[in-house]
Amino acid sequence: DVKKETLGFQTEARQLLHLMIHSLYSNKEIFLRELISNASDAIDKLRFAALDDDSILEGDGDYAIRVAVDKDARTITISDNGVGMNRQEVIDNLGTIARSGTAAFLENLTGDQKKDSQLIGQFGVGFYSAFIVAERVEVHTRKAGEPSEAGVLWESHGEAEFTLEDRPREQRGTAITLYLKEDCDEFADEWRVRSVIKKYSDHISVPVMMAAASESSDDAEDSQDDAAAPTWETVNEATALWTRSRSEVSDDEYKAFYKHVSHDFEEPLTWSHNRVEGKLEYTSLLYVPRRAPFDLWNREGSRGLKLYVQRTFIMDDAEQFLPLYLRFVKGVVDSNDLPLNVSRELLQQDPAVDSMRGALTKRVLDMLGKLAKGSPEEYAVFWKAFGQVLKEGPAEDFSNKEKVAGLLRFATTHTDREEQDQGLDDYVARMQEDQDKIYYVAADSFNTARRSPHLEVFRKRGIEVLLLSERIDEWLMSHLQEYAGKPLQDVARGELELGDDEKAEKEKLAEESKDLLERIKGVLADEVAEVRASTRLTDSAACLVVGEHELGAQMRRIMEAAGQ
Ligand code: ADP
Ligand code: MG
Repeated sequence: DVKKETLGFQTEARQLLHLMIHSLYSNKEIFLRELISNASDAIDKLRFAALDDDSILEGDGDYAIRVAVDKDARTITISDNGVGMNRQEVIDNLGTIARSGTAAFLENLTGDQKKDSQLIGQFGVGFYSAFIVAERVEVHTRKAGEPSEAGVLWESHGEAEFTLEDRPREQRGTAITLYLKEDCDEFADEWRVRSVIKKYSDHISVPVMMAAASESSDDAEDSQDDAAAPTWETVNEATALWTRSRSEVSDDEYKAFYKHVSHDFEEPLTWSHNRVEGKLEYTSLLYVPRRAPFDLWNREGSRGLKLYVQRTFIMDDAEQFLPLYLRFVKGVVDSNDLPLNVSRELLQQDPAVDSMRGALTKRVLDMLGKLAKGSPEEYAVFWKAFGQVLKEGPAEDFSNKEKVAGLLRFATTHTDREEQDQGLDDYVARMQEDQDKIYYVAADSFNTARRSPHLEVFRKRGIEVLLLSERIDEWLMSHLQEYAGKPLQDVARGELELGDDEKAEKEKLAEESKDLLERIKGVLADEVAEVRASTRLTDSAACLVVGEHELGAQMRRIMEAAGQ
């Protein structure tokens, strides 16, 4: 009763497959990274499930990923003894693309093959990359804990359809065999494959093994007497990278590991690797990416760290270890204190998690501070990608308000350029002797801010003003309130006093213009609360000011947009 059925790929999966097959061949070798990464995920999942019930291990706890090549048959097989899949899971995971990421992937294609093929991993569509090099793929799998008859064989030529049939499998887990295209036979070459494994999978904590190289393949063919049970050799480093000491890990290894945890194809901007001992014991390895992921602004977007407990993988996207405004940070945290059966719910209540979160937050802010100081150009890259997210900091994280503020960058009248590259420390250092406030103007765009009539008097007196033009800025300022003991002051708000001499000047002016002011007030009547003579303007005749305690213009627009 071998039930065989033919099923169609879901439309999106089909689109993606078409793409893989017809255009993404400039970086073929990444298929191996993707398949090994899936095998490693499957083993992590099993290891985690076995914490509750180790009977599913069937006595075999020697986790390994095996890669075998056959030059004559032109095949490469990647097998793992991880969780495996049952029939329905095979259909769900290999026949459809349930992830929202795929649509985004298709939208993000640039047409540049090299870039596009690198996007594959990032969008979690890794399995289909097998079809970059294979004309046919077979997946033979059996779910851990189920009888061997539950084995399933999935097969596809990567066109519209795939077939499924029952195929018993002794060994739990999954074996994926690629029947290579003619021009891809390099991946049936042992040495080529070894070097690709070294390149991409060194940091994976599971051993990736290959059959030991035979002296001469002719010999092997001659000795038919089943001497063929190969000796397996571990090809990768196979120790979790973060458990090694900093001095033993090279920059290249750190970078490769980043690509593994982040699914990013670019190198990280910086990282910080630390072991903490004492009341709490944990290791963290935190990275700052170079560019924003496509889902940075998605409420449902992935965020958080990979959580391990005593080197056992527990979950992806553990978001409890960092505040939301640091959601761009990628990496790993490995705790010795949390229970192995910790769940998301438990994480929310655990006081150890709170104190780790506090420490990890400081760690990230320090890492950013160091980057800002040590390599301003790199920091500018960071700021472009994540500055707007960091601006959420002062509102979300009261205790680190000052620290975050020191990391912010602004456009100001000092440079008069749109680039946000001036820190508050720079501003404070340039403040005039009798200046006790940090001034800013907020508008819809940089140019509107820069041309604001409110600035005239500041420019005249050579007082620097921050030029704010992002939506979040007024909200940011309302939470920031001060920096280095200096209050932040909106130049468009309330009365303005720049010095004693000005006071006198103003009173004189008010006296002189009394009649005029009365007349204007009469005309504008209900439109304004007050009409004042001002020393603010040097070129313009008049300007509108917001009352000290009223909403700023930007906030007003946000509220109006929200229907309030
Ligand atoms: P992702 O790894 O980002 O989830 P992939 O396309 O690489 O996306 O894999 C799709 C899904 O197929 C995986 O999430 C997993 O459920 C399943 N899968 C792939 N390879 C294996 C494997 N070796 N063992 C078990 N499940 C697998
Ligand atoms: Mg994958």
